[in-house]
Amino acid sequence: MYDVAIAGGGPTGVIAANLCGVYGLSAVVLDRADDVYDLPRAVGMWDDVQRILHDAGILDEAMPAMCDHVGAEFVDPDGKRIIGLDFPPGFVTPNGYPIVRGFHQPGMERAARRCLDKYDNVELRAAKEVTDIRQGASSVTVTVRDTSSRTEEEIETRWLIGCDGASSLVRKTCGIAWNSLGYDHEWLVVDVALERDVGLSPYMQQVCDPARPTTVIPLPLGMHRWEFQLRPGETKDEMEEPERVWSLLEPWMSRSDGELVRAVVYRFHATIADTFRRDRILLAGDAAHQTPPFMGQGLCSGARDAHNLVWKLQHVEHGLTGEALLDTYTDERHPMAVAMVEHSVNTGKLIDAYADMASGGPEPPEDLQAYAYGGSAQLPHLSTGLLSDTGNEWEGRLVPLCTAVTDGAEGPIDDVAGPRWAVVARDDPRGSLSSDIVSKWERLGAAFLRVPEPGSAMMGALLSLETVAVRPDRIIYGAASRPPDI
Ligand SMILES: Cc1cc2nc3c(=O)[nH]c(=O)nc-3n(C[C@H](O)[C@H](O)[C@H](O)COP(=O)(O)OP(=O)(O)OC[C@H]3O[C@@H](n4cnc5c(N)ncnc54)[C@H](O)[C@@H]3O)c2cc1C
Repeated sequence: MYDVAIAGGGPTGVIAANLCGVYGLSAVVLDRADDVYDLPRAVGMWDDVQRILHDAGILDEAMPAMCDHVGAEFVDPDGKRIIGLDFPPGFVTPNGYPIVRGFHQPGMERAARRCLDKYDNVELRAAKEVTDIRQGASSVTVTVRDTSSRTEEEIETRWLIGCDGASSLVRKTCGIAWNSLGYDHEWLVVDVALERDVGLSPYMQQVCDPARPTTVIPLPLGMHRWEFQLRPGETKDEMEEPERVWSLLEPWMSRSDGELVRAVVYRFHATIADTFRRDRILLAGDAAHQTPPFMGQGLCSGARDAHNLVWKLQHVEHGLTGEALLDTYTDERHPMAVAMVEHSVNTGKLIDAYADMASGGPEPPEDLQAYAYGGSAQLPHLSTGLLSDTGNEWEGRLVPLCTAVTDGAEGPIDDVAGPRWAVVARDDPRGSLSSDIVSKWERLGAAFLRVPEPGSAMMGALLSLETVAVRPDRIIYGAASRPPDI
């Protein structure tokens, strides 16, 4: 019997599997494909997700498939910036990483799969299709078909995570509703391997052209991405024709400058599952939510699901808490995923609105302009679920990546805390907590950390509150001044 079975070995499933390794859960990943899907889809990874990959032990291995960006902007049809954001060299966010990095999805997924070799308790089984699921009181039986021999076997697991993508069999078998959030457009996605420097902009650009809104993104490994919105009446077949693709690319490059890696029409959806948990079965990644890619948040949201979920499964499996902890998974991730999808949809609407303005339409309303790159709309942070009721502004935000000290170690807080709770203060937090509270934290296996030098204004303000409790997924559970019995 496994602690965890994961249906689907795409990015969400394999990040979750690596986290199972980190947290000491036995796990099996089942994927119906023989290998990683070889064409890139996701191209942008946010700072907090780079931090998750570090926690999952994947980031260093994935770095060769990643690149830095100089900035992101909305431009008019002549390439003139409407609004945008520059990323100064070396700039990192409070999470300790560049705000966004470009990456090659198959390269990142292969790196994540290689990292599973570190764990004796985690296995990846390719060419194994999940065909049925039966849920019992204390386990789940998963029927698995070998895609070459067509033989079937049954696997017993305490918990099943459905990471089997947007058409999720796991979600459908559980009868979980799949709701549209009102964005449904086709775009042609084109990747080119450049053979020479053709002077393309180093910025990630949304070209707000009324003739055809277009996304252009520099990628690592000599690749470049274009995404062309389909106009009314255009069909998938005609748009995927190589002649048509090259004519669309003409403003940027000619046929002799590179090789077409792929040109495929995708329907960009905004959809969300009603719940991410049905008893012993949990959904993560595209199986739980799908978002249009204008903010580069699809895969990122899947990584956040995995980071939110796996430590909770460990707490339940290792008897630290009851199963009710798992209800907080939907409570926390569902509203976050909805907010992220809505943010991305609004960014998509703003691209259309600026394109309309370029052909004489009105300026987009201010509340929509907030969704531009560098606009005032903030990405959401956690505001529901397992948070203390100290009620201050820090709860639900990620703790800044500062240097922390404990009895035997000093280093980045994530490394010193490891996969566990952390109670943090300028001096040893045990000094200001009652012995009863200290022993409660000890029962959870928490690290007691000192942060003598906050290193950032945000951490300084946070530590002025005396005691900060940080969850294993680096989210601030609570931050309290006196009385400090958080
Ligand atoms: C054009 C485009 C651009 C994008 N850009 C970005 C971006 O910049 N940043 C970002 O974060 N996201 C982006 N995304 C979204 C991102 O690619 C997806 O969100 C991500 O791939 C989802 O990962 P997943 O593991 O949840 O699902 P998937 O990648 O769909 O993986 C599902 C896996 O499950 C397996 N599977 C399915 N059914 C079964 C079964 N019955 N049994 C066993 N295995 C099964 C499949 O073989 C597959 O390996 C983009 C998407 C597109 C299309």
